[in-house]
Amino acid sequence: SLSDRLTATFKNLRGKGRLSEADVDATIREIRRALLDADVALPVVRAFIGRIRERALSEEVSGALNPGQQVVKVVNDELVGILGGETRRLNYAKRPPTVIMLAGLQGAGKTTLAGKLAHWLKSEGHRPMLVAADLQRPNAVNQLEIVGERAGAFVYAPEPGNGVGDPVQVATDSLEVAKSKLHDVVIVDTAGRLGIDEELMQQAADIRTAVNPDEVLFVIDAMIGQDAVKTAEAFLEGVDFTGVVLSKLDGDSRGGAALSVAEVTGKPIMFASTGESMKEFEQFHPDRMADRILDMGDILTLIEQAEKNFDEKETAKLQKKVEAGEDFDLNDFLTQMSGLKKMGSMKKMLGMMPGMSQYKDQLENFDEREVDRVEAIVRSMTPAERTNPKILNGSRRSRIAKGAGTTVTAVNQLMERFTQAQKMMRGMTRGGGGMPGAGGGG
Ligand code: GDP
Ligand code: MG
Repeated sequence: SLSDRLTATFKNLRGKGRLSEADVDATIREIRRALLDADVALPVVRAFIGRIRERALSEEVSGALNPGQQVVKVVNDELVGILGGETRRLNYAKRPPTVIMLAGLQGAGKTTLAGKLAHWLKSEGHRPMLVAADLQRPNAVNQLEIVGERAGAFVYAPEPGNGVGDPVQVATDSLEVAKSKLHDVVIVDTAGRLGIDEELMQQAADIRTAVNPDEVLFVIDAMIGQDAVKTAEAFLEGVDFTGVVLSKLDGDSRGGAALSVAEVTGKPIMFASTGESMKEFEQFHPDRMADRILDMGDILTLIEQAEKNFDEKETAKLQKKVEAGEDFDLNDFLTQMSGLKKMGSMKKMLGMMPGMSQYKDQLENFDEREVDRVEAIVRSMTPAERTNPKILNGSRRSRIAKGAGTTVTAVNQLMERFTQAQKMMRGMTRGGGGMPGAGGGG
């Protein structure tokens, strides 16, 4: 699985400094393969990978994660973002009935979905009504009636024996029927062809104009694979829709169509249909789908855990030290720096810290890249030097400067700033100052 392959890739990565192109690319190769395996359309994979790569290379290095894990986190965040972030709820009309129109290819699962949606709406306290506006296939009306019976919902259909009726007229009439029978939601089932068809696309567009729906749901078979992009684009142009429903998700474990459709149309996926029975229907959860596409739930759990442990451990350690009146050393300095960097703009953070207003001018000139330089210098020190900076004599300083690719002057400046920070920390503990996370002990 992808999880296994990524775990193997991570073993070769080293967690040092900013993410290197080689680190990012090694992880991205595996992600790319997983997306293609999941049947995500090639242009979508390309666009997606391009964005991931750019973002991963510009990410700040996390102390908690190794580079591979960090790339995976970027991939997951981006994936959840494309899939819609939060679950999108149905849009109900201010004045009932709410009209939901279904569109999609023949066999996509529209009629089945109409029943499931009605069944679900009933459980949510609504009084849905189904409308048979698919008069294309001889059996379509009958199929909707069976579905309606299973869902326990009223079905409005043209009288049998009247020949082929006009679907636009049926849809229009259904609104009056809904009002008189006090149905608050109307679900309009429509016809579809196996391939994209001008005439039926026009019919769907006409129904849309006639009933002015609150939602137009584009139903797409999750097993359609590479054709998902072409089909979604055709319906977007021909009928336009407000949301997507993925059907037959039970037959496709990877859900690549979800990513393709979401990326190409920018429309939210709202529901998923996962079987033939009424109950096999759910609201779509972007985060769960992201897990499913990349099949890396285990890795994500590990990542979450690592981040949480790291933050808790570091905060607790620093707090304990400060409370015990121990000296704040360069390791702490580094942790604090990267913590601030992680939290966002360094300037803003420093500005919010008590006692920092007196350094306003210095803050104005504060360069966030400075943190990277500080990190490089501290990382060039030995553990003994970090815990006991007093031993930093001239020859040690010049060795450190070389290791960090900087000058002895820069090392000296850092040491001066560190000494100031140390004094400030001491002052805070004694005065019981309000350094976040420092507690009141002192
Ligand atoms: P329509 O032409 O878009 O109305 O599609 P239908 O609702 O008639 O569905 C076509 C076929 O797919 C039928 O045999 C359904 O039973 C089946 N089907 C629909 N949704 C699902 C689903 O979520 N899972 C599975 N396994 N089959 C489904
Ligand atoms: Mg149908």
